[in-house]
Amino acid sequence: MTVFNPWEMACQQLDMVADKLNLDKGIHAKLRHCKRALIVSVPIWMDDDTVEVFEGYRVQHNLERGPAKGGIRYHPDVTLDEVKALAMWMTWKCAVVNIPYGGAKGGVVCDPTKMSLKEIEKLTRRLTSEISIIIGPEKDIPAPDVNTNPQVMSWIMDTYSMGVGYSAPGVVTGKPIEIGGSLGRHTATGRGAMLVIHEAMKHLKMKPSDTRIAIQGFGNVGSSLARYLHELGCPVVAVTDVSGGLFNEKGLDVPALLAHVERQPQRLIAGFDGGDHLAGEPAANEALFKLDVEILAPCALENQITADNAGNIRARIIAEGANGPTTPEADVILHENGVLVLPDILTNAGGVTVSYFEWVQDLQSIFWDLESIDRELTRIMTRSFHEVMAIAEREQCDLRLAAYMLGVNRVATAVKLRGVFP
Ligand code: GLU
Repeated sequence: MTVFNPWEMACQQLDMVADKLNLDKGIHAKLRHCKRALIVSVPIWMDDDTVEVFEGYRVQHNLERGPAKGGIRYHPDVTLDEVKALAMWMTWKCAVVNIPYGGAKGGVVCDPTKMSLKEIEKLTRRLTSEISIIIGPEKDIPAPDVNTNPQVMSWIMDTYSMGVGYSAPGVVTGKPIEIGGSLGRHTATGRGAMLVIHEAMKHLKMKPSDTRIAIQGFGNVGSSLARYLHELGCPVVAVTDVSGGLFNEKGLDVPALLAHVERQPQRLIAGFDGGDHLAGEPAANEALFKLDVEILAPCALENQITADNAGNIRARIIAEGANGPTTPEADVILHENGVLVLPDILTNAGGVTVSYFEWVQDLQSIFWDLESIDRELTRIMTRSFHEVMAIAEREQCDLRLAAYMLGVNRVATAVKLRGVFP
């Protein structure tokens, strides 16, 4: 079996669109490389008075359209190639929704579920200090990703601010409201995904009450997506997380499930009694993917829908809340089977869009109300959906290729206009 490499997958996706766009060879080569990648070691005193050293990365793929932007994830499976791929996907994502950023990503190889809060704080502060040579409000602005949250962003903001000698809220987004965060940021990725799904449903003339939803992952993205789709009137019939899965053919009581998760120390769905249990991981996810539902939303990690399981999928729409959940081989199978894939670089772009609003508010020290945030997010997500759909219809291609054509073309144009230095 070949080992999955997300960077190779990201390059393969770029190559496909380069072909389609007839991209200049030099520009293609430039985009196939990351501008810079920093590897740092992060030594910290653990609670048992020993020193442990973690490996961390910050990768900036492209800065042609503006400062670099992208989250930081804490996960045992983080690799440099994964972070490079995620940085490249951020470049396209920011370009698809047309916000003035390039793409970056960061990660630390660690298992935060086995660390105390104090250890996570030390890890975050030392990581920030190590990467402070390349981050900053005008350079590269981190944000939350897998296993990082507003508290982690507070520590990044504080550590960076201590270094420069003044409060610099614009160095990071996804912060708590009290220290320069934005209303609506915490739930923005889920809200943006709901907006894209809603447009796709209208396009296919699907009624919310007849649209059954299955969601893989119940972290920040999966749980807020469940909430918004439930509010839209869609029955959310199944969800999974690392603790297993839940199924209720009449639709789960989403508000009760959210309240349950909120009460759990690790925020897991296990122990909720409002549905039947799907067997534990990975069986729960395999069962989830086979369900007879209208929409399947992978909201966890990369490499979930592959050539091995794509043929079993019965959903009409796949909505990618996660980054890179579907492999190019699976894409071909899904396209042949008539499954509409709403690609990650469009579907989960709501998070970085409200991050952009947060950064603008921080730089101007003027803060918007929630109504303005929601209105602007809706405007950008709906506009982007229709731009991508128009390309797909014109070019007779799937939405992923269409989104790539839109995003890569915008970045390539910036490269062309700026030229190659010196
Ligand atoms: N981590 C999120 C993503 O993958 C958000 C990045 C950001 O807000 O900068 O899109």
